[in-house]
Amino acid sequence: MKEYNVIVVGGGAAGFFAAINIAEQNPQYKVAILERGKEVLGKVKVSGGGRCNVTHAEFVPQELVKYYPRGEKELLGPFHQFMTGDTMAWFEERGVELKIEEDGRMFPVSDSSQTIIDCFLFEAKKHNVDVLTNQGVKTISKRDEAWEIETNHDTFKAEQLLVATGSSPKIWKLLEGLGHSISQPVPSLFTFNIKDNRLKDIPGVVAQNVEVKVLGTDLYSEGPLLVTHWGLSAPAILKLSAFGALELAKRDYKFEVEVNFVKQATAAILEQLKQVKLDSAKKTVFKFPQFDLPKRLWQQLVLASEMTEDSRWGDINKNQLEGLAGQLTQAVFKVDGKSTFKEEFVTAGGVDLKEINFKTFESKLNKNLYLAGEVINIDAVTGGFNFQNAWTGAYIVSKAISSKA
Ligand SMILES: Cc1cc2nc3c(=O)[nH]c(=O)nc-3n(C[C@H](O)[C@H](O)[C@H](O)COP(=O)(O)OP(=O)(O)OC[C@H]3O[C@@H](n4cnc5c(N)ncnc54)[C@H](O)[C@@H]3O)c2cc1C
Repeated sequence: MKEYNVIVVGGGAAGFFAAINIAEQNPQYKVAILERGKEVLGKVKVSGGGRCNVTHAEFVPQELVKYYPRGEKELLGPFHQFMTGDTMAWFEERGVELKIEEDGRMFPVSDSSQTIIDCFLFEAKKHNVDVLTNQGVKTISKRDEAWEIETNHDTFKAEQLLVATGSSPKIWKLLEGLGHSISQPVPSLFTFNIKDNRLKDIPGVVAQNVEVKVLGTDLYSEGPLLVTHWGLSAPAILKLSAFGALELAKRDYKFEVEVNFVKQATAAILEQLKQVKLDSAKKTVFKFPQFDLPKRLWQQLVLASEMTEDSRWGDINKNQLEGLAGQLTQAVFKVDGKSTFKEEFVTAGGVDLKEINFKTFESKLNKNLYLAGEVINIDAVTGGFNFQNAWTGAYIVSKAISSKA
């Protein structure tokens, strides 16, 4: 039996951040990370397309929480304790400088997730954290006020236990055994599969600012839209996939979306099109894009409005004009399935939020059991918010454990 003061199960983002902070604040403690894999920090490595989108330049807790479809209410208090600015400072104090991109996402200036991994491995070593790999946790039980943890190789004992195993069905089962309820896990942050002639030939086209609604629901979003080989992606879609994770799963990812490419009312657009018809009667509609739309997208919408490549503004009839106004403002697409967004994806679901004390991230059901990161039912839209949840929870766990020392 190997004995520790604190055992952290899971060598990922939350696990490392917590273990380092606990060991730094309590040099007298023996701290270990138990990781099931051969390597640690696997997701950090591939995160943000290999660049690791560490956090987001949103510095107001009340604003930051709005990016969390699950966890909005619960994270407000924790963000007052450890926020995005604290994350920046934490990394900078340890030699990792972060930069802010135009859309607010923050990355290491090296543009390499390895910088974050190197920092964590260095800090863990410096503070004598035992990082034990190939230690898949199989059972967790309480014996004489201490936690006993069995892995495929060893048995461990610890006074304090942090479970930071991300989206792991096996660990959720173990936590159910300890009395916790698990909200049904479903994917979040995915792109929409759409087969549609309007999109078929234009992958790579981006409309900078659109509105998207999921028909028959309240789901609505705004932002950039990207046409892909499979359908639609980019923030306007990813936000819907996060906020609609449960609803869209219920529909088995079969639903319709309505896109307003120009963010104006149909009637207003129709009036503007009528004016173009008067002013530019001799020009061909196909070759004369309006409303700053990408040319290839405009052309697809024109063809979808019963016009040909040769139709001239002066010759098009009322139905065609109305059709075009409709395509621009209320274009309906049938979604059939989803695809993985390779830069970032997460699971909605996990340990029920009612069972966690968000002042400490300690379980309300099991004393000295802490939970942080994706194992709990918190997830966010894309942009660095998911890691911020991991850093915040992990840091607060370290403070709570230190206060017991
Ligand atoms: C491709 C991809 C890219 C992403 N990019 C970003 C990004 O740029 N920015 C962002 O904010 N978020 C990003 N995310 C989301 C982010 O990676 C997660 O939200 C975050 O890693 C969660 O941290 P965690 O510590 O809870 O879990 P994880 O980082 O998943 O770590 C959990 C660890 O626990 C281990 N484990 C599981 N079961 C056991 C067991 N039984 N015994 C021992 N160990 C176990 C796992 O092997 C793993 O190492 C991305 C996700 C993916 C998949």
